[in-house]
Parts: sequence; structure tokens; C-alpha cells
Amino acid sequence: MDRTLAADLARLPDLLDTTRRAAAEALTTLDERPVVPHPPKPADPEPLPEHGSGTETALAAFRTRWEPRLSASAGPRYFGFVTGGATPAALAGDWLTAAHDQNSNSAMDGAGQDLERETVGWLRALFGLSDAHTGTFVSGATMSNTTGLAIAREWLGERLGVSPADDGAAALGPVRVLSGAPHSSIAKALAFLGLGRNCLVRVPTLPGREAVDPAALDRALADTPGPAVVVANAGTVNTVDFDDLTAVAALRARHDFWLHTDAAFGAFAALSPQHAHLTEGLDASDSVCVDLHKWLNVPYDSAVQFTRRRDLQARVFQNAAAYLGPLGEHPDLVHLTPENSHRLRALAAWFTLRAYGRQGHREIVERNIAGARALGAALAEDPAFALLAPVRLNVVCFTLAGDPDPARLTALREAVSAEVFVTPTVHEGTAGLRAAFSNWRTTQADVRRAARALRTAAREIA
Ligand SMILES: *Cc1c(COP(=O)(O)O)cnc(C)c1O
Repeated sequence: MDRTLAADLARLPDLLDTTRRAAAEALTTLDERPVVPHPPKPADPEPLPEHGSGTETALAAFRTRWEPRLSASAGPRYFGFVTGGATPAALAGDWLTAAHDQNSNSAMDGAGQDLERETVGWLRALFGLSDAHTGTFVSGATMSNTTGLAIAREWLGERLGVSPADDGAAALGPVRVLSGAPHSSIAKALAFLGLGRNCLVRVPTLPGREAVDPAALDRALADTPGPAVVVANAGTVNTVDFDDLTAVAALRARHDFWLHTDAAFGAFAALSPQHAHLTEGLDASDSVCVDLHKWLNVPYDSAVQFTRRRDLQARVFQNAAAYLGPLGEHPDLVHLTPENSHRLRALAAWFTLRAYGRQGHREIVERNIAGARALGAALAEDPAFALLAPVRLNVVCFTLAGDPDPARLTALREAVSAEVFVTPTVHEGTAGLRAAFSNWRTTQADVRRAARALRTAAREIA
């Protein structure tokens, strides 16, 4: 064994302790550090070390060279994109995932996949899905949407008497995927699946809304020859609008389509009794995407993919090899997702659900919604700002009053980035900013601090 490696092995518990202290320091100083730091440009990349000097030296180099450049995205005022943090239990679960380093996707060494199945059952209960849905862990909502649409592709083949998994997507002929306000990852998934971005048909949304107009969807389906795919949206990123999932599913009485629902973070509305109606009808979907590194507050990267047609899923993703054994009635996870090998990704989700339960996670969701409402109210009453949409759930979509010129918005964003991080968007042709609440640490004090920073900066750049 390499001498440095052997020395590290001999002191492994000490080294883990040193690393733990570094992690604890990073987490206890989240509030004081800039939310997004602006250090000088990075130094030139260093050459690959010929001989290493062990974990402790690597840790010291990381802490001086890279850690100061990292954002406080685990903290309470990082409102960019839709970014969750990591609850204490989720972080513990993630550490142990690496410590145990399982690649358990086969019944021959099956504890890992049993744990994953238990966790999927808990998630199903959390989101009000019935046992008709099976689920698998994937790396994020993009991969969950891609997996759902891959199953949809195979369903289209079943309807037309071909198998795209065997014969290629071209066997389907032209395909139509209809959606009101799809997330950008849907087009990416279609490009990747060989269906092509151009098969995405935008269906009109309700006036002033991002929710699909069910009557327009009915007409678009009537105009579609043969079976189609509908992507319903449960929580759009700009205004957190929800399609009427029950009305969309009801269209199946008249039209033949696969219903995939992108509920990446919107599914968490089901945890709040006051907002649960938004997810009504979710169970009727043939496939459902839910992100976990957003509102469940597990570390990157984690999402779940639910479907009612595991048989079609296995037809796409089966990885037949002599040493893997037959598929059987409960296919091993290796036959269900784009990856073969993957980490025991379910463990962080298992930990946080085991530690805090449904009520603990309900409290996070409701506190985040209250935070978004409060920031929305603070900006709405300030003449320097205008809301671009009502705060429907956990996102404030706003702009500068008067001339919301993108350059002024960039100046505003940069002026506040040490205190609060928001990301740019365009809503109905108007440039704006988004503040998305999905971190378990965020309190009303953070909202006040964010509002103060934004209001002060708006005056400074005016
Ligand atoms: C975030 C998000 C995605 C993509 O998620 P990743 O985890 O970044 O892959 C897809 N759909 C919706 C609605 C989202 O909010």
C-alpha cells in the first residue's frame, strides 16, 4: 500500500473527526458567510500531484483554495432556482451512504434495494399516491422526467404494436407531447430520447395563468392522430401554477394518452392541508416526477420517479446479463433506471423521513410558504417593486417597478448577493427575478433580512 494511504488508514477515525469539525464549522457559519461570495478570479488550475500528502493536507488545501468560493446554498437565504438544503438527519444519512458505499441494485445483495423500496413507500404515502405506483430513485427531476417519458415512449409503442426499446424511436413515427407550461427539462428529455424537441406542442394556458386550459387541451388532443403523451405541470417554476390534474386525467375518457405529471417540487403541496387540493388527481398519472433535493431537503442529487407501468419501465431499462439473473416479478433496480450502478441514494431520504416524519416535513413546507407570502407582501407594498404573479406557494416572482430593464435587474441581483440570492427569469415577456423558498432553515427573520437588502439595493441602483 502507498505509504500516505497506509498512514491515512491507520488514522481513519481521527481524519473523519477532523473532517466532521470542518463540516460543522461550515454549517455553523452559514449565516455570517456571504450567500454568494465574489472572491477574485480563481487561480490557474494546479497540476496533478505526483505524490500526495494525505487527507489532512488535501483538506487544508480545499479550505484555503475552494471553500471560500463556495456559496451558502445550504443556508436560509439562497432563494435561487428551487434549492433545498440538507436537514441534519439527511446529512447524516448522506455521510453514511458514502461510508457504507453500497452499490446494491441486485437481490443477491439486497438490503439496499429493500431500504429503497421502504423509502419509496413512505414517499408514496407523503404525496397521497396509491400502491399502484412503484418508484425508483434517480439523480434529479430531469432524470425523473426523462425516465417517465421513456416509459411513455414504450407505451406509445405498445399502442402501435412496436417496441421503441427494441426497434428505436423511429418505429413510432411522429409523436406529439402536449403540455401547457412545461419545464425546460421536458424538451431536454425529448431530445435525449430520440423523440426530438419539436414533438413538444404548447397548449394554451388559462388567461393570466401558467396552468393549462383543459378545453384547449381537449381540442389539441382531438387534433392529434393516434395516441399522445400529455405532460401535466404541478408547480411551475415562475409562478408555481398547477394544472387541474383531475380535469386533465378526465380527458382520458375521450382521448388516448399517457399522462406524465412533473410535480418536481409542487408535490410537496400535498403536505399542507391548506394547499393539498392543488395535488388532487396526482395519483391518476401514469408517471410522476418528484425532486427530493429541493423540498425534501436531502443533499444533491436525489429525485424519485413513480409509475403505474413498471412492466414497461423494465422493458426500456432492463440490463439483461447472465450474471444479473432473470427479471422476475420484482425486477432488481438495475433493470429500472438509466444507471446500472448507483449509490444508496435513498438513505438520506430515509433518514430525514424517519427522523422528522410527515409532520416535521409539513412544518418545513408551511414555514416556507409563509416566508414566500411575507416577502411577497413586503415587496408588493414597496413602490420600487412589482409582483409579476400572486404568490401561490413558495416562489415570489417580482420585478422593479417602472422600467424592469434586465441590466438593472442584474445590478440589483449582484448588489444583494451577499445577503440574498435570487435568479433571473422572464414572465409573460417581462424580465423579473425569482425568490424560491425551499430550505428548512429559513425563518421570518431571514425574510426580513432579504426584504431589507432588496429594498435598500433598489434605491441604490435607481
Ligand atoms: C427543478 C425542476 C426540474 C429539474 O430538476 P433537476 O433536479 O434540476 O434535474 C424539472 N421540473 C420542475 C418543475 C422543476 O422545478
